[in-house]
Amino acid sequence: MINISKSKCVGCGLCIETCPKQAITLNNGVAIIDIDKCVGCEACIQSCPQNAIAKINETLLIAIGSDDKKIIKQDDHVGTSKFYLIYKYKNGVFDFIETRKNLKFIENETKIHGDPKKAKNFKLVLKGVDVIVGKLFGPNIVRMKEKFVCVVSREKEIQDVLDVLGKNINEIIEVKNKTDRKGIVLNNC
Ligand code: SF4
Ligand code: SF4
Repeated sequence: MINISKSKCVGCGLCIETCPKQAITLNNGVAIIDIDKCVGCEACIQSCPQNAIAKINETLLIAIGSDDKKIIKQDDHVGTSKFYLIYKYKNGVFDFIETRKNLKFIENETKIHGDPKKAKNFKLVLKGVDVIVGKLFGPNIVRMKEKFVCVVSREKEIQDVLDVLGKNINEIIEVKNKTDRKGIVLNNC
């Protein structure tokens, strides 16, 4: 699947001129691809001066922290979420897989910040996960980012979170493949 990074696209329109299938348009200054028209020729990838376009073949397992399974965890860091909503990303589609309950250890946590036991527990709950998404991260991000791509989303509704993840999926994959990872802050503007 061909994907355009919303955070990298400057709206120059070069990819639109290049596409033989008129599959790309600008929406609020950002290029978007109509996947029904796209034939995957990859011509647009070469045309982009921003390296904003990439072919995405990877499958990702994504965990979104939530207390009520409806909105992203609001008032504390993602490690204290009651639940993690697990989605599989493949070919531009997010499929809901399961809800994982956080362990009691975390629900009853002390106020020790950056506790390595918490980080270890967190990794157990999120076994197999590639990307963790929250509104806030605590000091344990220092350890978490070694294992996960840590993504901050300011959106509230889970569907809006998934939308902004989809628009920035190539940036997320870039970070996943780095050894020196930094957290990513996504804005849906
Ligand atoms: S891969 Fe080809 S058909 Fe698809 S958007 Fe790019 S240039 Fe157009
Ligand atoms: S060529 Fe790149 S920067 Fe220009 S509109 Fe297309 S995706 Fe955006």
